[in-house]
Order: sequence, then C-alpha cells, then structure tokens
Amino acid sequence: EAKFGHHGVRAFSPALDSILTERRDLEKAMIHALDHGGFALHYQPQYANDGRLSAFEALLRFPHPVMGMVSPARLIPIAEESQMIVALGTWVLREACNQSMRWQKAGLPEVLIAVNISAMQFARQDFAHHVAEILEETGLHPELLELELTESVMVKDFAESTRQLERLKRLGVSIAVDDFGTGYSSLNHLHRLPIDKLKIDRSFIQALSEPNGTLPIVESIIAMAHRMGMCVVAEGVETPRQMATLREKSCNILQGYLFSPPVEADRAALFLATGTNP
Ligand code: C2E
Ligand code: CA
Ligand code: CA
Ligand code: CA
Repeated sequence: EAKFGHHGVRAFSPALDSILTERRDLEKAMIHALDHGGFALHYQPQYANDGRLSAFEALLRFPHPVMGMVSPARLIPIAEESQMIVALGTWVLREACNQSMRWQKAGLPEVLIAVNISAMQFARQDFAHHVAEILEETGLHPELLELELTESVMVKDFAESTRQLERLKRLGVSIAVDDFGTGYSSLNHLHRLPIDKLKIDRSFIQALSEPNGTLPIVESIIAMAHRMGMCVVAEGVETPRQMATLREKSCNILQGYLFSPPVEADRAALFLATGTNP
C-alpha cells in the first residue's frame, strides 16, 4: 500500500517511519527540556603548552529518560531544522556565562570559557548585540568569553561575516575557528578575518604519528597561524605521544581525553582550583 507524506514523498518504510517518529519524539523532548531545565553543559579543560589551565569548552548535554545521553551531534541538527537552535543557543551562552560567574563568586580563578556557536545563531543580524546583552545580564567580562565557529560558517557570506566578527571583537570577546582543516575555506579568506585561535580538527591529531600521517600538515598549520598572530589549539589529544609532538611543535593549547573528557561544573571547579594539568 503506497502512502504519501505531506511532501508527496512515497512509501515510508517501517524502518524509516520509526526513525522519523524517534526524531519527532526527540524534538518534543527537547522543546520540553528547554522550558524545564532539562539540558546541561559539561566543560572540557584546555591546557597551555606549559601545563597551565587555559580555558574550558562548554559542551551541550541532554540526558533523556529513555534514550539516555543524547549526543549534541544529533541534537544540533534537529535544533537547527526546527528553529529551536536560537533559543537553545541562547540558553547555552547564558548558562556558560552564568557558570563562569558562579566559579568567580566561589573565589576560583578567572578562566576563559569557549562556547560553540551554530550557523543559524551567527547568521542573526543582531547576534553581536545579543552576545552583548548576555554579557551585561550575567556580568561576565567579555575577555573571558570565546566563541567557536567553524570555517564554513565564517566564510559563507564573507562580507557579512567580517562585519559580524568585527562587532564581536569590538565587544572584547575572542574568536576561535573550530574544526580547522576540515572545511573548504581558503586561508586567503581566513587571514582577513579577526580570528584569535585556530582549533586543529581532531582527525589531524589522530593521524599525527601514522606513517605518511598528518605531521607536515599540523606543522604547517601551527607555523602559519603563528605568523598570522593566532594561537593554535589541538583538539582530541588522546596519547602522550601526540602531546609530546604537539608541544615540541609549539602548539599553544591542548585539549582531549588524555587530560580530561568534558565534565560537570563541579568537577571542572576542581581543575580550576588546581590550575595545572592533573
Ligand atoms: P566540537 O565542537 O568539535 O567538540 C569536540 C567534541 O569532541 C566533543 O564532542 C568532545 O566531547 C569530543 N572530544 C573531546 N576530546 C576528545 C578526544 O580526545 N577524543 C575524542 N574522540 N573526542 C573528544 P561532543 O560533546 O559530543 O560534541 C560534538 C559536537 O557537537 C561538537 O563538536 C560541536 O560541534 C557540537 N556541540 C556541542 N555542544 C554544542 C553547543 O552548545 N552548541 C553548538 N552549536 N554545538 C555544540
Ligand atoms: Ca568546539
Ligand atoms: Ca572542534
Ligand atoms: Ca571536531
């Protein structure tokens, strides 16, 4: 029996049907969670080359009663398609800023907090204004906030992105390029943007010590970034060997399971109190 969906697409198979149902259930659960405090942020430390704690990256977590911990890699696309991303992104930004203030109020040292920003959030005309409002509302010093954007988000509408990034820089927040090396943007474009940091994508770090691996690429990225006055973060550092190579090549900041997975705020506070790499 042929069924037609509302887009005129024919015959959902039972398997596809259940995927769509699960997706719709997840979307409903997300909408509910947004209003009822059902989301959480975890924090992953970034350590400077000398071992000192440099920043925390805030990462979205969604503990679902039935589906378990749902990955943000799954949540974000659903949020983007349903327009929920703007409200969810606002929640993430506000919660990260509030958490940083809670640490400060508990007498812990100040630390940079990095927040992931999705394409649709960044595309808002008033995004910089929105960030300014959250900073004002939470009281967080702009220099303690970093925004992580992917290359593709930055170069999509180059002229508009440039203006947007310049507005953000004027506020005093810093800008990091996430997943660097995986996009199609040319360096030609990136060097004209007000960028503070490049985060080398995990895939390059993983293949670092393989024969014919990514060492030459990673070395070039570091050298180029430094010549352009940018700082380099390696993400997904999992082995002591990767750490040693990256330090030797003067990569500024390291992040990955070798140091810590993303953890709850209370655990992150312990890293903050210690200050150095555990
Ligand atoms: P990302 O921004 O590239 O974040 C890094 C991801 O790698 C995180 O996954 C982190 O838990 C994981 N990771 C960190 N160290 C290691 C390591 O040593 N090995 C391995 N294998 N993985 C490591 P997570 O938390 O599942 O997030 C996945 C993606 O979802 C993020 O990738 C980011 O693109 C997106 N995301 C997460 N939170 C948010 C958010 O609040 N807003 C937006 N727009 N996107 C978010
Ligand atoms: Ca990120
Ligand atoms: Ca990344
Ligand atoms: Ca990545």
